[in-house]
Amino acid sequence: MRARRLRALLAAVLAAAVLAGAAGCAQSVDPIERLGKKAAQRVRRSYGPHEGAYRRWGLAAPLAPPPRPARPLPRHVEPEDEGLPEVLDRVPTHDRVVFLTYDEGAERDPRFAEMVRDLRLPVSVFLTDSRDGPGYARIGRLRAAGATIQNHTLDHAGLRGRPYAEQRAQICAGRDRLRSRLVRRPLLLRPPYGRYDRTTLRAAADCGIKALILWRPAHAYGRSTALHPGDILRPHEPGRPQTSLTTETIRVLRRLQSRGFTVARLEDYL
Ligand SMILES: [Zn+2]
Repeated sequence: MRARRLRALLAAVLAAAVLAGAAGCAQSVDPIERLGKKAAQRVRRSYGPHEGAYRRWGLAAPLAPPPRPARPLPRHVEPEDEGLPEVLDRVPTHDRVVFLTYDEGAERDPRFAEMVRDLRLPVSVFLTDSRDGPGYARIGRLRAAGATIQNHTLDHAGLRGRPYAEQRAQICAGRDRLRSRLVRRPLLLRPPYGRYDRTTLRAAADCGIKALILWRPAHAYGRSTALHPGDILRPHEPGRPQTSLTTETIRVLRRLQSRGFTVARLEDYL
């Protein structure tokens, strides 16, 4: 009964949207948005994520839903690394999944949040407070769209070689800002430029970080080289403003789809 009522409601809203369009109404009408949050959630559940959205973003087929993550594969930890965060550019798994991660800049591209929402992309975005801080409202939208927000230090200082106190300040302060603005406890750290040392691991552990997240080098998901289950990818190289985050992500999505992979949420596998 409820599903029928919802369908009728959606049809009515769609009809209203068509009428508004025909009347030359300039305001864009997203029928799902107009239903209100709760109703929209129910509609999405019964209709799937934005039917046909994949076509709008240039994909030939919808992304396969990720499997329920199996129990993490056992990992070997050296006794001297006990209690330190893991450093990962690939998560050990047999599932045909990869993970999409982004550094700063994701919240500055409004189309990116739209794409994350439309495709229900389980992405992880690493934020640098001093660069991204002014955009916390946009970060909130990105999070509402489905992104997970993680730590990329206070102001993107290269950590390797710095004294413990400096490294700790960069990591802990980055965490505290995220916590105060987004009410959340980031457990993952991407060290700026992917550079770190043993002091970074100690400092990160003291700031509650569970893992340092690096990424597979770009050639690993280029045209010729195979992807591997559990690869952590970074579709967009920061500092390449000539390419768009969204375009590069779609390119990666097409590649991984053609190889029978899908995208899973990194945090679900750690
Ligand atoms: Zn960065």
